[in-house]
Amino acid sequence: MIDPRSIIFILAALSLLMSVVLFAMPASIRDRIGGARHWSMAMLLLAGASLLFALRDIIPDLLSITIANIASLTSVAMIYAGSRAFFDLRPRNGVLAAAVIITCLTMIACTYFVDLFAMRVVIFSALSGALLFLYGLDVSRRRPRQSGRAAFPYLFTSVTVFFDVLISCLRIVNAIRMPDPGSSDFFAPTLINVLYYSTHSLLAFCISVGFILMLNERLHAMLEHQLSHDPLTNAYARTIVIEMTQRALASGRSPVSLLLLDIDHFKQVNDDLGHQAGDAVLKHVVNTLADSLRPDEPLGRYGGEEFILLLRGAAEAQALRVAERLRERVAGTPYPHGETARPITLSIGCATATSGETLEQLLHRADAALYRAKRAGRNQVAQG
Ligand code: GH3
Ligand code: MG
Ligand code: MG
Repeated sequence: MIDPRSIIFILAALSLLMSVVLFAMPASIRDRIGGARHWSMAMLLLAGASLLFALRDIIPDLLSITIANIASLTSVAMIYAGSRAFFDLRPRNGVLAAAVIITCLTMIACTYFVDLFAMRVVIFSALSGALLFLYGLDVSRRRPRQSGRAAFPYLFTSVTVFFDVLISCLRIVNAIRMPDPGSSDFFAPTLINVLYYSTHSLLAFCISVGFILMLNERLHAMLEHQLSHDPLTNAYARTIVIEMTQRALASGRSPVSLLLLDIDHFKQVNDDLGHQAGDAVLKHVVNTLADSLRPDEPLGRYGGEEFILLLRGAAEAQALRVAERLRERVAGTPYPHGETARPITLSIGCATATSGETLEQLLHRADAALYRAKRAGRNQVAQG
């Protein structure tokens, strides 16, 4: 049977490896995704703590018990702090500081004043189990639920974490039932010791694999979002709505309508309020439109101050109704600028695909309708 000391050495090596992997992540990514720095630091601390644990009876107790336990608990606190940052939640520095301080006091009191091994185990396992439980709760509650986002990294992490919490509980029960195994038995190759150290090491490794899986998933989602959305307004990129329209036309199942929406006299907005306010007006218009659209009505930035909206399943009359509703909504929601509010209006060209019509033909008709709406005085809808 592999002896517990070797298992802890292996854990130290694996933790160091994982911290190197996490630290090797480009700084630009670590700056952008909250939690990455905490988790890199946590693994480095765990590597150090495990090395100190493994050298028990070889180096002074101050290092192998007191410092090792404090570093280990701090590492768990960093893991939890990492999840708060990763999910953009309020940090809980007070709770974390209290856990570290209680650990420090317990380690000092139960090592130097009275050597109470069971008390050390109970307090340490209870605190680290509680912090890990909170971490697992954050991960399982906040896992992404949008379609297209992978849930596996979050499920993997929460299952691993809850399993580790269970091991901590068992260790507490065991410490209460057998309060004094004697200091020399710390690394005795008993079944319970080997089971505890190997399971705990494996889970610690799995938890760090969980960080990498979650960071990778988040990075993937960010890249995908950047590729498919306009960075200024957060509307879809033009290509995405065009692709969706092409697919809807190819399926030929239900009517397909396209709206081209253009802000009226936008150049004048830029000239009067400045380019920055012009940008804010673009965002304001997209937010106003988004408020009255369903998730299955994708709005894209067609270019400049022009937008494209795909209406699947909407025949001519319904598409015109939607267009009119959007026009009214934007006209009735002026852009707040300082003390004043600047009215913003849209001209909208609307076209519903006829059987066998190509995307280019449909776009051309919507564009011609938009042109007519402009010519007719703006702030109106025209049918192509
Ligand atoms: P019309 O009613 O005929 O549509 O007039 P318009 O002024 O809205 O149209 P025009 O095509 O003459 O001007 C569009 C302006 O939109 C010109 C350009 O500087 C501005 N624009 C395009 N993209 C952006 C942007 O990202 N930010 C800002 N602030 N302005 C932009
Ligand atoms: Mg315009
Ligand atoms: Mg334009």
